[in-house]
Amino acid sequence: MKAIRVHQFGGPEVLKFEELSIPQPGPGQALVKIEASGVNFIDVYHRTGLYSSPLPRLMGVEGAGVVEAVGADVAEVQVGDRVAYAFTGAPGAYAGHTLVPAVRLVTLPSAVDSRTAAAAMLQGMTAHYLVHSAYPLKKGDACVIHAAAGGVGLLLCQMAKQLGARVFATVSTEDKARLAQEAGADAGICYTEQDFETEVKRLTDGQGVQVVYDSVAKDTFEKSLNCLAPRGYLVLYGQSSGPVPPFDLNHLSAKGSLFLTRPTLTHYTRTREELLERAHDVLKQISASTLKIRISATFPLAEAAEAHRQLEGRKTTGKVLLIP
Ligand code: NDP
Repeated sequence: MKAIRVHQFGGPEVLKFEELSIPQPGPGQALVKIEASGVNFIDVYHRTGLYSSPLPRLMGVEGAGVVEAVGADVAEVQVGDRVAYAFTGAPGAYAGHTLVPAVRLVTLPSAVDSRTAAAAMLQGMTAHYLVHSAYPLKKGDACVIHAAAGGVGLLLCQMAKQLGARVFATVSTEDKARLAQEAGADAGICYTEQDFETEVKRLTDGQGVQVVYDSVAKDTFEKSLNCLAPRGYLVLYGQSSGPVPPFDLNHLSAKGSLFLTRPTLTHYTRTREELLERAHDVLKQISASTLKIRISATFPLAEAAEAHRQLEGRKTTGKVLLIP
């Protein structure tokens, strides 16, 4: 099979397209023939070594396809099942086949094709836990969503609007602002041209918002805190512009008894029950067309480096896929 591996951390050029043998499933594992792999910003951290791991490293943590074989003690899926998954503990989705712990696989409803599923699992469940669990949005809340035309961003806008929140979306271009507004945002703020803190205060009559969903981090963190109403929540769930430098917790009291959390999807899909609940909720909404998945770019597996260049270069909107 073909697969993408990295032998050293670095830029997109370290993504090597290689011939590897198809692995055999061990106990508790399923062998999945991948039909589409999701490209996620976390793959960039794995490639650069920001999230370090032993080398060589298989790439990709999200995919959809068909179960081709199962190891001993697998009860969750059967050969022939259409499945999808997102799991950082089993890298290897950028490949023709991959091994996944069966407990992390979700069987797909017939209305959801493999490409849509590969686009929905990681970013969909992330948006889901952010608005339902990390800070559960209530009707009438106001929120800021950074990078709102991105993969997680467009899904967050839709879910936040469905829950009755006022949504202020930050993006880097007018086209991205239009996409975020089509996804439900009440206002788009071009944070590369406008001061988003000033805009959010203007749009909320100086009151601030109950929550900021911040995946940009270094460039936005300080002003995100300043956008919050007293006792507001900063949900810092990514770091697309780089990590936040060391932070003095006293700022949280000075700025209004604020809450700060740094969540990850793994901890919000800890049990199989929670994983299935979230995944089924997302897939049900897609089947009912109440959640729209935007796939903006699809690359052959061999062009994984170009997919990374575009994602890091802020050229993409919604989801990017690799097709083995
Ligand atoms: P996106 O599609 O959102 O792409 C990243 C976006 O970030 C860009 O399109 C860009 O939007 C914005 N951005 C702002 N500054 C920069 C910069 N300096 N370099 C590159 N991009 C920048 O990616 P994903 O949807 O895959 O992920 C979004 C974020 O969410 C990532 O930080 C990721 O790590 C995080 N994440 C966290 C999870 C968790 O559970 N904690 C799970 C899933 C994702 P614009 O041009 O509009 O500024």
